[in-house]
Amino acid sequence: MSILNILQSSSGINHASEKKDVSTVTVITTTRGSKQAIDANGFKYFLNGPRTGKVAYWRCTKKDCTGRLISRLSTSKLVGESLPQHDHSTNILKSMAKQEEKNIIKKHASLPMTNNKMMMSEISKNLLSSSHPNTHFSMSTTAALKMALYREKKKLNPLPPLPKTFQDVMNTVIPSSLTNTADGTEFMILNSWINHLEEEAMMIFMSDVGADVMRRAPIWMMDGTFFSAPTPYYQVK
Ligand SMILES: [Zn+2]
Repeated sequence: MSILNILQSSSGINHASEKKDVSTVTVITTTRGSKQAIDANGFKYFLNGPRTGKVAYWRCTKKDCTGRLISRLSTSKLVGESLPQHDHSTNILKSMAKQEEKNIIKKHASLPMTNNKMMMSEISKNLLSSSHPNTHFSMSTTAALKMALYREKKKLNPLPPLPKTFQDVMNTVIPSSLTNTADGTEFMILNSWINHLEEEAMMIFMSDVGADVMRRAPIWMMDGTFFSAPTPYYQVK
């Protein structure tokens, strides 16, 4: 018994919307005149041996896949109750996986404490424990999922556009999530023109806690990415 079998048979958390009639296969005739069966998950099968008596034997069209099923000739109903396991996915399962990924990415984008790893392990777990564990073969890549979470977070919490000039900076209303610390105290302590001609502006970010640490420290040691700053900024040297 494979891990997929175990998960499938022990899973009791299938959603009602995932339940559909899986008891019938669709039998089609290809342009070459041969018969093919398609099951409810979109897996395709060739006839496997002669049709004898009242049933047809089918094998998966993917080379080396062990997916097999038997259907009744009169009704196209499956013999047996469950669909076979495959070592690959189908477009139907792919779109189910995408939908599940979308739901979980959306959920994590709005969580205050989460990260890429937590989001991905939830997607993986949900796909494997669903009524269609083969959806796991259609899970998106790590890079794609990270980017999707980043985009979704940005949608919920849009950042101001990058400024090109100091005038842009001074015209920007900076959201309070960027000017305050997580506990709500002031973090942006200066955002102002620094000369009368209003050619240059300066921003200073420091928390009360950080200021207090510096106030009490007898020695300050400094480091910084002095040569790396987006226009129009440069960092204090
Ligand atoms: Zn297969």
